[in-house]
Amino acid sequence: MSSTTTASSSANANWQQRSRRHVWHPCTQSIRLDVAPPLPIARGEGVWLTDHEGRRYLDATSSWWVNLFGHAHPAINAALKAQLDTLPHVMLAGCTHAPAVELAERLSALTGHALGHCFYASDGASAVEIALKMSFHAWRNAGRADKRRFVALRHGYHGETLGALHVTDVPVFRDAYAPLLASAHLVASPDARAARPGEDAAAVANRAADELEALLAAEHDSIAAVIVEPLVQCATGMAMHDPAYLRRLRALCDCFGVHLIADEIAVGCGRTGTFFACEQAGIWPDFLCLSKGISGGYLPLALVMTRDAIYQTFVDDDAARSFLHSHSYTGNALACRAALATLDLFAQEDALNRNKDRAARLFARLREGLAGGSPAVDHLRQRGMITAFDVREPGARFAERFHLAARDHGLLMRPIGATVYLMPPYAIADDEIDQLVDGTLATLRTVTTAPHAATEEGIRDAALA
Ligand SMILES: *Cc1c(COP(=O)(O)O)cnc(C)c1O
Repeated sequence: MSSTTTASSSANANWQQRSRRHVWHPCTQSIRLDVAPPLPIARGEGVWLTDHEGRRYLDATSSWWVNLFGHAHPAINAALKAQLDTLPHVMLAGCTHAPAVELAERLSALTGHALGHCFYASDGASAVEIALKMSFHAWRNAGRADKRRFVALRHGYHGETLGALHVTDVPVFRDAYAPLLASAHLVASPDARAARPGEDAAAVANRAADELEALLAAEHDSIAAVIVEPLVQCATGMAMHDPAYLRRLRALCDCFGVHLIADEIAVGCGRTGTFFACEQAGIWPDFLCLSKGISGGYLPLALVMTRDAIYQTFVDDDAARSFLHSHSYTGNALACRAALATLDLFAQEDALNRNKDRAARLFARLREGLAGGSPAVDHLRQRGMITAFDVREPGARFAERFHLAARDHGLLMRPIGATVYLMPPYAIADDEIDQLVDGTLATLRTVTTAPHAATEEGIRDAALA
């Protein structure tokens, strides 16, 4: 099917076969590796990835939403090389170091010091675990150990360790492990696509918030926190909502004495147009989780920011009142240095402003290309540098077929079910935006005109493609 899957003696095929023998690939149905072998990537530069046979692919997913300023950015590379020669890592219990201190200072300043303390981890799921534990523990320190349940939104995604998975509502990730999970309260998603006739996005948001209000009114005594992905529920298929939801959420949490956890792991670091998505609602949460883009897409780094007042509830002689989460690589100096270099690039490249033009160009071109109505798509939508649409008749294994066809058009893309999304690195130039849109449209025509059987099962399977 794809030119990348032929010639078993090729350099690509060699890595594909060896990878298959010993590497267990994530989010992959192994039986499909014959049809969809992993792309063996040899190099990255800017928005481009190059395979072992010299073919180039535009990284339209920012490598699972982590890359911001392009692969192998000279400034981040230089900062990392200097850090490497100075201090690659030291434990953060009993020691401290400049990159961890400076990063916490700068992130705190970005919140106007509303969130004054920063706890470090290595991946998004652990940041969520930490936020859940901190919220529960802060309540316990305040004499409210009965507040130990969490509220999550339908279709939300917060990672796949057991604690994070218990507040995740994406069946494909959750179902197999459901017997292991604590139970969370689930409330309506404010997804604007759920609008009834005559409703706008803000009305959907308020309707969803009404359901949350009823739950909190009845159960707040046993609830520690509500966790939300502000503005875009990414993993379920880029479900976007009105900022009005976040304003209601903040007011309800204040009213009922419940913490608000903002999971900005995917939407933070400028992806929605502001550095933090919460800024668009004019609110701050009690805990804010960052990961993915914070290291520029270079190294595993996550962090949880919280209010100084919450930090103070843990300051005590009694060890049991201290926050207990002992992670070996916490505050890794190289990862923090990559994050500092990434924050510098926001300023140097005026990234948030220039992304407005990039997003506008991408949206205008895509809307124009889809305007003919064939193939039929619904809900073309955008929030900052995240753009998505839903294919009306995707057919069986749509995501896998789209992913493979996109390779032939020089794009790395992974639809989620029937949702095609474009989330390129901020480093994308105008002509690259045009290539991305043209390639997306060409891929769409290829996969929607090829014969296939449209089955529900196929659509579900495709989520794993
Ligand atoms: C990716 C993601 C996570 C999990 O991050 P990992 O680093 O993959 O563990 C959590 N929450 C959201 C919103 C995410 O998009």
